[in-house]
Amino acid sequence: MILELRPDLSSDRAAELERLTGGRLVVFHGRSLLICGTAEGGRQLPEGEDIGEVIDFPEDWPLASLAVRPEKTVIEVGEDLRIGDGSTLLIAGPCAAESEGQLRASAAFLVSRGIRLFRAGLFKPRTSAYSFPGLEFDGLELLASIRRDYDLKLITEVYDTSHFDAVEEIADVIQVGSKAMFNLALLRRCGRSPRPILLKRFFSASTREWLQAADVILSAGNPNVILGERGIRTFENRSRFVFDLNSAVYIRENSHLPLLLDPSHAIGRASGVRALARAAAAFGADAIMVEVHPEVDQARCDRAQALDHRAFAALQDEVGDVCQAVGRKLV
Ligand code: PEP
Ligand code: MN
Repeated sequence: MILELRPDLSSDRAAELERLTGGRLVVFHGRSLLICGTAEGGRQLPEGEDIGEVIDFPEDWPLASLAVRPEKTVIEVGEDLRIGDGSTLLIAGPCAAESEGQLRASAAFLVSRGIRLFRAGLFKPRTSAYSFPGLEFDGLELLASIRRDYDLKLITEVYDTSHFDAVEEIADVIQVGSKAMFNLALLRRCGRSPRPILLKRFFSASTREWLQAADVILSAGNPNVILGERGIRTFENRSRFVFDLNSAVYIRENSHLPLLLDPSHAIGRASGVRALARAAAAFGADAIMVEVHPEVDQARCDRAQALDHRAFAALQDEVGDVCQAVGRKLV
């Protein structure tokens, strides 16, 4: 249960209501919402003239829900890119930033193909202690210069709060990677950031847990969250993960947040990425993100799924055709 407090309610009365209900007062898109009676069990709702609208939502991710916000959230990236406005944004770049040469070759090619939002990770949350962890702090200046020189917007990832401030300085969109989805301190820090956040789903998280994580960010003050489906773990072992379009449908039916689909991590091999990207386009994803590398056999991270430039061009053409067929513009 959520109480939307009247805008002219005094802060004293709001605090009193918070105490009375055991709820939590949050400001969301300029509205004061007292969230109570969710999973933790709010106390009795007070009655009175000064209580505004009561919104009934039985789950514990109200801010991400259409019940609280029936209109779709459109996220602005810079002056002229929008995610969630009915178009499909294609995001591409290497998994990891590796060297100046790699980044320049990648950026030059992708710009020539009209890509506007470039991905490349500096802080890679590798599972193995012996895998390339990314350039980390040493790559910040380089990535910032690529962004500037090629007039690209940049999405790059964080996996904990120790490097958040540094990444926030250079990124247009901050990605919380799959394995960081349950990092509460990180989610709260995202909530205090002025940057849009791409919240990737942990590969073993339920849709509900993913939406709860989104609410941590939203309730901490950042309304600009993009949900990223990137494949989940099941008993199936012929692909890296399983692309969960069922959850994509659920998100579309129940949340106002834009949805990004990532076929690269889902299938985990380059030969399958195009087929899944076409499916993502047919679904009507707000954004599709794929990994591309100028020299695939040299890639230091996620090599098996990296598209070479020819395969990327083919994917872009096909995704453009599918978008057109379903009445969406590919950006
Ligand atoms: C990535 O985008 O390179 C990445 C590590 O993704 P995920 O967190 O979804 O595995
Ligand atoms: Mn990757």
